[in-house]
Amino acid sequence: MRVYNFSPGPAVLPQEVLEQARQEMLDWHGTGMSVMEMSHRGKAFIAIADQAEADLRELLSIPKNYKVLFLQGGAFGQFAAVPMNLSQPGSVVDYVNTGAWGKKAISEAKPYAKVNVAADAGEPYTSIPLLSNWQVSDNAAYLHYTPNETIGGVEFHFVPELKSGTPLVADMSSTILSRPIDVAKFGLIYGGAQKNIGPAGLTLVIVREDLLGHARPGTPSFMDYTAMAKEGSMLNTPPTFAWYLAGLVFQWLKRQGGLKAIGEINRRKAELLYSAIDTSSFYKNPVAHDARSWMNIPFTLARAELDKTFIAEAKDAGLVTLEGHRSVGGMRASIYNAMPLAGVEALVSFMKEFERKHA
Ligand SMILES: *Cc1c(COP(=O)(O)O)cnc(C)c1O
Repeated sequence: MRVYNFSPGPAVLPQEVLEQARQEMLDWHGTGMSVMEMSHRGKAFIAIADQAEADLRELLSIPKNYKVLFLQGGAFGQFAAVPMNLSQPGSVVDYVNTGAWGKKAISEAKPYAKVNVAADAGEPYTSIPLLSNWQVSDNAAYLHYTPNETIGGVEFHFVPELKSGTPLVADMSSTILSRPIDVAKFGLIYGGAQKNIGPAGLTLVIVREDLLGHARPGTPSFMDYTAMAKEGSMLNTPPTFAWYLAGLVFQWLKRQGGLKAIGEINRRKAELLYSAIDTSSFYKNPVAHDARSWMNIPFTLARAELDKTFIAEAKDAGLVTLEGHRSVGGMRASIYNAMPLAGVEALVSFMKEFERKHA
């Protein structure tokens, strides 16, 4: 039996996609083999790879002067690849810290460049620092921020456009494809696939072409965007099966009506859960209202000693992986694209019933 899986990542995938993958598992389109068993340079896989890129470009309306890379190493790999490719030793780079992932990105960049923390939300990281107060550098190679903090549940509902023209770099691991975005406002977007795209092992990078060609000496070629772009992300063996599955997810998203339609559903799902939390005196979400994530919704119970009971009873009701991050405690519901509205409705009615029984 399938459950409603609220995991922060690796996370739920659309059931249709899993079924299609199962159907094609042993024999992809008459090739007599699984996608996992194909040469990445063969005709069949090249067709899969090209289709996935074309669908992603269509979904996000990616302008022609951006390269799309299908890489490995996760967002963590990008924490280092970004400064290696976009800054020189001694360059100043601006970072905005709105939580756990922003903090990690900063510490991973420090060996490569002079990190200026342009804004820091400060403990307990439940808000976004006012844009007009950001201390941006005149000469920064880029400004890096985290549009959605997966652990804290803090999301930017705007793109921080900088007057300086400094390229914006965004770790979109847990928000990419959740709604339309204007890619042209960014220099570089990256994200691990395992939250809102597909299986773990694939990392997406979307980079403006004029930012290529400046990797510092010593950058390993598999982390060098220019080298990877030149080889169509196939300088070495790419994560072929994850790339294929991401492609199936892109097609599923198109069948849902694209990002505008999925964004509306995501807004409704989030509003439903926040309103259940806000109208009760038993549940609480600590995040500033204008910074509440559509994807990851942490909440606490009025009596923390009930946490274990909540998790156990939710599991019996088919609602799983609701434990909060170890650093935050309480609960967290991650409601990515593949979580249907019915899953959020089931969670909300479980919460009401739990409150009635235990409050
Ligand atoms: C999950 C996550 C990461 C870490 O991704 P890995 O693929 O495990 O390296 C980084 N940033 C954000 C915003 C995330 O949600």
